[in-house]
Amino acid sequence: MSLPDQASVTAQLAAFTADLAQAGSLRDAQAVRDRFLGRKNSVVASWMAMIGGAPPADKKAIGQRANELKQAIEALWSEYQARAEQNSRPAGAIDVTLPGRVPPLGRRHPLTLVRDRMEAIFTRMGFAIVEGPEVEDEWHCFDALNMPAEHPARDMQDTLYLAAPVVGESGRPDDTRTMLRTHTSSIQVRYMQAHEPPIRIVAPGRVYRRDDLDLTHTPMFSQMEGLAVGEGISLADLKGTLTAFAREMFSPSARVRFRPSFFPYTEPSAEIDISCWQCDGGGCPMCKRTGWIEIGGCGMVHPAVFEAVGYDPERYTGFAFGIGIERVTILRHRVQDIRLFFENDLRFLEQFPY
Ligand SMILES: [Zn+2]
Repeated sequence: MSLPDQASVTAQLAAFTADLAQAGSLRDAQAVRDRFLGRKNSVVASWMAMIGGAPPADKKAIGQRANELKQAIEALWSEYQARAEQNSRPAGAIDVTLPGRVPPLGRRHPLTLVRDRMEAIFTRMGFAIVEGPEVEDEWHCFDALNMPAEHPARDMQDTLYLAAPVVGESGRPDDTRTMLRTHTSSIQVRYMQAHEPPIRIVAPGRVYRRDDLDLTHTPMFSQMEGLAVGEGISLADLKGTLTAFAREMFSPSARVRFRPSFFPYTEPSAEIDISCWQCDGGGCPMCKRTGWIEIGGCGMVHPAVFEAVGYDPERYTGFAFGIGIERVTILRHRVQDIRLFFENDLRFLEQFPY
C-alpha cells in the first residue's frame, strides 16, 4: 500500500461523501462513518498505523494527512447529522431545545384589584359576597326600597329603562318596566327575600345612570353594597364596621365621620367621610383642605324595606352602606380622570400592580 498523499485525502473524502449519500438510514450512515473514522480497521486508523513502519522522513507527512482526513470527515459528519435532524422534524414543529419565550401576562384591572381588596376586608369581618342581576324590575330597584311610584327620589335617579317590559314582582299594572339597575341596593332586596336574618353581605357590581361622560362621571360605574340585619344591630355597629374597613383600606389611623343625609331606604341616613390619609386630617389639596374625604353613603335600614321583604321591623334592625369602587380607586391611586378606567389604554393599565 502506497503512502497516503494529498490526492489520497481528496479521493477518500469523495468516497466518504458518495457512500454517505447512499446510506438509507442513520444506522447505515453511522457504519459509513465508522468505516472511515473508527478506532479499528478504518481508513484513518490504517493511515495512523502506517506511521510506525514508514521512513522517518515521511512520518510527519502521513500524520498530517491522517489528521486532515479525520477533521474533514468529522466536519462532513456534523453537517450530515444536522441535516438529518432537520429533515426528521415536520415543518413548523417546535424545537424544544430552544430557550422559551415568555408569553405576555395579562393583569387585573385596577377596579378589579380594588374590588378584590375590599371584598377581602369585608370577608374577614364575616360578610358573604353576593351578586345580583344588572337588569332589574322597578319593584326591586325602587318600590321595595321605599320609593313608590310617586316618590320624588325616583325622579332623582336618572334611570336607563329597557325597551322590553316585564310584569314585575308587585304584580301592579304600573310595575312593568325593566331597567339597568341604578344601584346595588336591589341586591339587598333579592337577598332578604330569599334569606332569614341574621345577614351580613357585601354586593359588588356595576350600576347605570343617565350621566354624560366627563372627568368624574360615567353612565356606568361600580359600587359595593353592604348589609347587616339581625337583632339589636345599631348605628355603632355600622360605624365600627366602616372604621375597620377604612383602617385596612386607607390608613391604620383612619377615622370615620357621618354627615346627615337622605336616602329613602335608610333612616337615619348619612354620607361616609374618612379622615384624609394624606394629611391625617390636617388639610391638603387631596381633601380640598377639609381633612375629610367622602367615599359613599349609609344608614340604618328603613322599616318599610323590612316590611317589603317580609321581615318584622319590630324585631330586626340593620345597617346598609354603599361605597363607590371607582371613587376608592381614584383616591387610592390618584387617578385624575374616571374615563381612563374604561378606555383600555395599556399605558394606564400597566401602572398598577398585578
Ligand atoms: Zn388631606
